[in-house]
Amino acid sequence: MAVPFADLQLQYQTIKNEIDAAIAGVIGDNAFIRGAYVDDFEREFAKAVSVRHCVSCANGTDALYLAMAALKLKPGDEVITTAHSWISTSAMITHAGATVRFCDTDGVTFTIDPAAIEEAITPRTVGIIPVHLYGQPADMDAIMAIASKHSLWVIEDCAQAHLARYKGQMVGTFGVAATYSFYPGKNLGGMGDGGAVVTNDEALAEWVTMLARHGGLVKHQHHIEGINSRLDGMQAAILSAKLPHLAGWTKARQSAAAFYDAALKQVNDVQVPQVLPGRDHVYHLYTIKHARRDALAKCLNAKGIQTSINYPTALPFLPAYRRFEHTVEQFPHACADQTSILSLPMFAEISRAQQEEVVRAIREF
Ligand SMILES: *Cc1c(COP(=O)(O)O)cnc(C)c1O
Repeated sequence: MAVPFADLQLQYQTIKNEIDAAIAGVIGDNAFIRGAYVDDFEREFAKAVSVRHCVSCANGTDALYLAMAALKLKPGDEVITTAHSWISTSAMITHAGATVRFCDTDGVTFTIDPAAIEEAITPRTVGIIPVHLYGQPADMDAIMAIASKHSLWVIEDCAQAHLARYKGQMVGTFGVAATYSFYPGKNLGGMGDGGAVVTNDEALAEWVTMLARHGGLVKHQHHIEGINSRLDGMQAAILSAKLPHLAGWTKARQSAAAFYDAALKQVNDVQVPQVLPGRDHVYHLYTIKHARRDALAKCLNAKGIQTSINYPTALPFLPAYRRFEHTVEQFPHACADQTSILSLPMFAEISRAQQEEVVRAIREF
């Protein structure tokens, strides 16, 4: 039996009527850009993630850019982020006008190491962007304590962590703002691109809105030079149709992860994801470590089991960051992980039979 990495078609089939009705509604109302569907989704998503304001935008990358641009970064400002993420996190620091400072991960959770943050702080540091990678919250108590001690802002990159909680508190509510992606494969995904900035700060929400809408809140009144970054009506309606299912899908992912954990813990050489106490992991990805990762991936793929490497190269070592001349010694955990991590098939609808197939293939290897 072939096992896909994710199965968006299957998810669509389970809620086909709701999605089709949402799309038909947008077409019938000519509500392609802005309008009630977008306003409704923003309100519903803010409620779902326990924040006051949600400003939707074109994708999760723009969300990071908009959140930082709204904080008015200056050349020379330094922003700290993790060595292990998708490139949007660090690239948007540069595009917002600041300088990226990478920190190693903690060696356990794949998230930023608070001790490394302390070491990376300079008089020019203005903010920290933790990423709740794969769906596990970063160490927010430690990160918020450092931020408060040094008067830094925190923007949480929640692109992989919809509904994840840290000590019972929803991620995205710790820092001054948080960003989400609704890329189709994310835990809450549209049928195209989408993103959002969420915040409890009304003035910041207004500034993000202006930046995302050509620099103004009212047509033809451009107070600043903004960009054009919109969640379109179709995506908003689709996301609103999916949102009521998100909690159930999250539980299904957690239960699939528990099944993998129990089965794979008994397999020599496989290290299952480590979840620290107080952290509710939402398993955007189920990522194991294995010393012979490439051979294992090849063996699984030959059996029709799709896997993925998230991500093959730690950010500091991408050609885009050659200018920093980083060394392996600066990022021992992120560097070691890039050769051993492997993400297994994980989606809310994955069947136990599919998971058993994955486990059997790993055992055979
Ligand atoms: C997906 C992702 C983004 C970017 O989101 P897009 O919607 O693809 O632009 C940013 N950060 C992380 C950690 C992501 O996983």
